[in-house]
Amino acid sequence: MLPHTVAELDVVDHPVLAAQGIRLDVLRLDKLQPLSAGNKIFKLKNNIRHAQTEGYSALASFGGAYSNHIHALALAGQAAGMRTVGFIRGEPQAVLNDTLQDAVQAGMTLHYLSRSEYRQRNSPAWLASLEHRYPDAYFIPEGGSNSLGVQGCMEIVSHIQYHCGDDYDVVAVPCGTAATLAGLAAAAPDKKLWGFPVLKNAHFLEQTIQDYLAALGVRQATNWTLFHDYHGGGYAKINRQLALFIEAFEKNFNIPLEPVYSGKMFYGLQQLMLSSPELLGTLLPEGARVIAIHTGGMQGLRGMKDRLASLRGKTTC
Ligand SMILES: *Cc1c(COP(=O)(O)O)cnc(C)c1O
Repeated sequence: MLPHTVAELDVVDHPVLAAQGIRLDVLRLDKLQPLSAGNKIFKLKNNIRHAQTEGYSALASFGGAYSNHIHALALAGQAAGMRTVGFIRGEPQAVLNDTLQDAVQAGMTLHYLSRSEYRQRNSPAWLASLEHRYPDAYFIPEGGSNSLGVQGCMEIVSHIQYHCGDDYDVVAVPCGTAATLAGLAAAAPDKKLWGFPVLKNAHFLEQTIQDYLAALGVRQATNWTLFHDYHGGGYAKINRQLALFIEAFEKNFNIPLEPVYSGKMFYGLQQLMLSSPELLGTLLPEGARVIAIHTGGMQGLRGMKDRLASLRGKTTC
């Protein structure tokens, strides 16, 4: 079943791929509205429905000051007519950044947690004390990554099918918690999933994915692979190479990227698909079709423009 709007599919027209008869398309979740919807709206929708069914009047969750999840929660909560509470990592700044300003404008109440408090966000005892203080609030884990979130991400496959039917072989997606990848893997068991972790040394994700899938009753799924070499130094770390890649990608294919998730995935895809025909030959048969998911996150780009420009060795105007 398709929700609201169907996400667009754009073609990446590259001569090296064309020479191999390989197709690369991009599912543009970044174009879904509002700006922060992306993959986050899929993770949130079942959580919000569940909270309403259970009679909660508020939604609460955790995130950093630039969090796409916090932004999406504030806007989705507002649309659902529910109060929202955001627990933000770190100290309050003198001036709210764009992400938090939007969240507050959408009615979200912000509470700042010290880094040591924030580290306890998944501890059941600590969470229970927080839930006790906010009895009206349904608590959603950071990133919206729980079973309901994974289930919601299964729906992304119906957006692909709307455009492609069954005519695709691989789905590529950037991974933070890998809840999105798990949803895709569960919904498209006969396709290959390629995940690009944006965290360094994220080898724990292999187990996390198994656990998410087991919670959905899917066992021994082997249709997914994580490529661990494209985190670019770690979460939200940006180097000049990545900054230049994003600029060139946007210019060549008219698809804007941000450096935390989509930029790293497409950089990884470039390395895998364009760096050597031999490597490509081991990964994909001739004529294969890859669907890359642009997961969104463009709201976060607003706080990074200067950094990207200075990495490219230019100044912003
Ligand atoms: C949160 C986020 C991801 C990561 O999703 P996971 O389900 O945690 O792997 C990817 N891309 C964007 C833009 C995000 O905001």
